[in-house]
Amino acid sequence: MPLLQQELAPNPEETLANYVRRVRISLGMSQKELAGRAGLHLQSVGKIERGQTTRLKQVPKSGLAYALSVPVEYLDAVCKGVAVEVIASLKFCPQCWVPGTPPDSMWTHPRSKHCFACGSQLRDRCGSCKELVASLKFRFCPFCGKSYKGD
Ligand SMILES: [Zn+2]
Ligand SMILES: [Zn+2]
Repeated sequence: MPLLQQELAPNPEETLANYVRRVRISLGMSQKELAGRAGLHLQSVGKIERGQTTRLKQVPKSGLAYALSVPVEYLDAVCKGVAVEVIASLKFCPQCWVPGTPPDSMWTHPRSKHCFACGSQLRDRCGSCKELVASLKFRFCPFCGKSYKGD
């Protein structure tokens, strides 16, 4: 059963432990299956779900994000305890952004509406299907497959 990205977003105040457990269960995976897919020890997954691990290093974090089919930014958000709305408002300049690179902080600032360099209106969603940009690590919209850059 495919899940909508929104259902997999962390709830406000959700801890890493609760979040990982909830997404794992919603995907119908056992701790062992999750550990296998993420390339982690079963013990490490157990520690995360018991709340004994609250910070993830880059490699296990990427593995876990992959195994749970969520953007790494979601795990960052639960680790830091920030609301995911901040993440969901990723903005970029359709002219200046180089696909595959992080967006400039001048674009993602909550009050920015136009590009500081060229004046283009910033974009926070796919130009084609209008779904919000979940991660600019992707060059293409995961919903419709169109490039984020261009129209
Ligand atoms: Zn620009
Ligand atoms: Zn799209």
